[in-house]
Amino acid sequence: MNFQLAEEQELLLEGFRKFLAREVIPLAEQYRDQLIPIEEMRRIQRAMFDFGVGAAVLEESLGGMGVDALTTGLLQFELARASPDIAVTSLIQNIVGKLLRYVPEHLRSELARDVLATKRFGCVGMSEPDAGSQITAVRCNAVLDGDHYLINGEKMWISNGGYSDFIFLLARFNGDPVGGLGLILVERAHGYTTRDIEKMGLNSQSTAQVVFQDVEVPKENLMVPPGDAMKTLLMSLAGSRPMVSLMALGVAQAALDQSVTYAQERIQFGRPIAGHQMISAKLGEMATKVEAGKLLAYKALAAVDRGQRADTEAAMAKWFGTELACEVVGEAMQIHGGNGITRDYPIEYMYRAVRPFTVTEGTNEIQKLSIGRALTGIDAFG
Ligand SMILES: Cc1cc2nc3c(=O)[nH]c(=O)nc-3n(C[C@H](O)[C@H](O)[C@H](O)COP(=O)(O)OP(=O)(O)OC[C@H]3O[C@@H](n4cnc5c(N)ncnc54)[C@H](O)[C@@H]3O)c2cc1C
Repeated sequence: MNFQLAEEQELLLEGFRKFLAREVIPLAEQYRDQLIPIEEMRRIQRAMFDFGVGAAVLEESLGGMGVDALTTGLLQFELARASPDIAVTSLIQNIVGKLLRYVPEHLRSELARDVLATKRFGCVGMSEPDAGSQITAVRCNAVLDGDHYLINGEKMWISNGGYSDFIFLLARFNGDPVGGLGLILVERAHGYTTRDIEKMGLNSQSTAQVVFQDVEVPKENLMVPPGDAMKTLLMSLAGSRPMVSLMALGVAQAALDQSVTYAQERIQFGRPIAGHQMISAKLGEMATKVEAGKLLAYKALAAVDRGQRADTEAAMAKWFGTELACEVVGEAMQIHGGNGITRDYPIEYMYRAVRPFTVTEGTNEIQKLSIGRALTGIDAFG
């Protein structure tokens, strides 16, 4: 077991941190709590591609760099430390990149080229108003009608939805209540509409409701046939759950960074508050929590890179890391006293931005249930 990053990973991260300080942090500050315009988001995502972020995960034969999961996780941590909002868009580009292999061959190269150039943004539509944790309850339906599918329904909470030029849509095909879930590529030009959802944080990127009303999609756009979609999606999510954890921990690291400086500078009772035992111990706990969360995520991502199904490791990393991250950001707020809850300091934003990670990519309750099922063989979901 080797806990050392490779030299090229260290160098990559060093260069990426400089880029983030120069390009991403100012952009994030400029658009705090406002949607980053799509052209700006395209520009910044394109610029980060050269470091291996987002769709750079695409295999080299399709023009990507085939970046491994652990390196992507390390990059997502640093990016979320600078801007969790921009990191969400990158993560979705990454997931879209992984799913591109299921796009029918006659559409794949052109789509891959446009995704890599950030000319087209994609999103992944699974959740619905009545199908969240119970994703098999999906109702959005695709009915074969001659040479096309007619799609009706609604998706909810879709990251990148408002930016999207296409969606990888989880739909119920031909009304089959049991084996009917498949995946289909639907383009914006086919006629779906979106509405951005206002949230407590992460509003600089789009989280959207996506509506399909008699949307006609060529039947050749089918990506994964009915019956196989859940397996395909679960395999790809096993890699992205630890990344969500690392993103939350990136926010926690940023809050810790701010807290260390604040504790060194803020004087009470004649000394920096870092010189009071309870503050010093708090900082010690915070740093340990970030480190512990990172190690669980690294372990899961390393297993993914070895080609293993790492669903349990991914679930452990996701729930534990995101909970730890929320605790750390809460402690950072306490260390900042009254200043922590003002808009003059970044902590209150971090507090609002870290919380959604306990819900997205499967709630933390659902992660624990899947670990329990792996331990006992007994399903406690129902
Ligand atoms: C910021 C953000 C981005 C997202 N991005 C996407 C995206 O890009 N694509 C996409 O498809 N979805 C996305 N989602 C949706 C996300 O996956 C769902 O919100 C999540 O799966 C939970 O579904 P729900 O919100 O309907 O909650 P519900 O499923 O209604 O859960 C409500 C509560 O009940 C608990 N619960 C539910 N079932 C059980 C059970 N069996 N046992 C114990 N507790 C249970 C949950 O843990 C939760 O605490 C996103 C969500 C957020 C917040």
